[in-house]
Amino acid sequence: MADKNFNAFQMAQTQFDNAADILSLDEPTRQLLREPLREYHFSIPVKMDDGTTKIFKGFRVQHNDASGPCKGGIRFHPQETVDTVKALAMWMTWKCAVVGIPLGGGKGGVICDPHNLSMREQEQICRGWVRQMARNVGPLNDVPAPDVMTSAQHMLWMLDEFETIKGAKYPGFITGKPVGLGGSLGRTEATGYGVVFTLREALKQLKIRPEDTTASIQGFGNVSQYALQLYTMLGGKVICVSCWDQKDKKAYSFRKKSGITFEELISITDKFGGIDKTKASKLGYEILDAEAWIEQDVDILIPAALENQVRADNAVKISNKVKIIAEGANGPTTPEADKIIKEKGIFLIPDFLANAGGVTCSYFEQVQSNMNYFWEKDEVLSKLDYIMTAAFNAVNELAKERNLYMRDAAYIISIRRVAQACKDRGWT
Ligand code: NAD
Repeated sequence: MADKNFNAFQMAQTQFDNAADILSLDEPTRQLLREPLREYHFSIPVKMDDGTTKIFKGFRVQHNDASGPCKGGIRFHPQETVDTVKALAMWMTWKCAVVGIPLGGGKGGVICDPHNLSMREQEQICRGWVRQMARNVGPLNDVPAPDVMTSAQHMLWMLDEFETIKGAKYPGFITGKPVGLGGSLGRTEATGYGVVFTLREALKQLKIRPEDTTASIQGFGNVSQYALQLYTMLGGKVICVSCWDQKDKKAYSFRKKSGITFEELISITDKFGGIDKTKASKLGYEILDAEAWIEQDVDILIPAALENQVRADNAVKISNKVKIIAEGANGPTTPEADKIIKEKGIFLIPDFLANAGGVTCSYFEQVQSNMNYFWEKDEVLSKLDYIMTAAFNAVNELAKERNLYMRDAAYIISIRRVAQACKDRGWT
């Protein structure tokens, strides 16, 4: 989102075309799946706290719903673009398909910066978004969720607005709700833990013990925090974490070679995943530049912040020690960087496989909400582990069998499944 020259949708289409070529996909299916089925653009007027009125631009993209209702988060970001939302919606289609859950791909966004908005103003944006979209979303056609800079509180406001409009309770309308108000235990951890479930399986493949490894992570938000937590619980050592600094309007990397603990770092992190530099210094962290996280001599890199972060210019700086890249973020790696990663022989766990834990647990939340019966956390996490492990193994088997890059293997599995659903419905 930050780089004006980067277009996430073009990147998503390039990745799709590449896999469609390998699959020799027929032309109508290719045309259908290269573009979203539906795309909504709308304006959300909000009365601000200072008495002025501001108009915020909102989006919802429904990429494909052949396998079930669309599913995907709503992001609040000052540099949000519809092309980013389109790319993310497309990736959601592949994500649901790779883990085999009966959902399609959607994504939404609002161009705004929650750092500069009061909670009341954010509530008005959430309610305004639902008022614009209420006719086209819902438990049977499109189910939103939190994403970058949106939280359980935002989901609850959206649910409340939807239920007010519809005049009934629809707990399955949205996921990422607070536990006790329709949320699922384990959702907070699900994406980060899912990344580590796939990482654990990749380490098994490479016959490396987690306790013999070190890692460096980009981002310290929801995904990264729980990836760090579970990876360190497995015995791994994180030595570097980077994050965005809102005051300085730039990112920094925080390095502690003796190992970073979840409890310590979370205690100096704000709700946006920003780390306090002064407190970090006092705790013995070295404060390095934005890109330092990618240059560390570690075994594992986990980009878990934003798209377009591993590019040709910095992929060449990846240490020869790195054996695995587990993509926590959506679209962190450009196709040019993919070439470098392939040449370096690094084992890549592609984004829509690695971070599918979030949508899988959202699916569990929907199931529980619709039944109005909620599972214990252990049950949620063990079901999640089962699905993530099975999906990883299927992609890895295909990659080995056909000597494919893991991203291509994941695409082939997903596109094949969605294309089949479109054909079975008589669409293509
Ligand atoms: P978040 O808002 O909780 O955290 C984002 C983190 O990235 C923050 O620590 C922020 O400081 C950092 N960051 C932002 N810009 C940065 C930069 N230029 N350099 C370094 N750090 C930077 O977001 P999240 O929910 O953790 O999501 C992270 C990524 O994972 C996104 O790509 C998102 O789409 C993807 N994702 C999230 C989920 C989920 O369940 N949360 C699921 C699937 C994929």
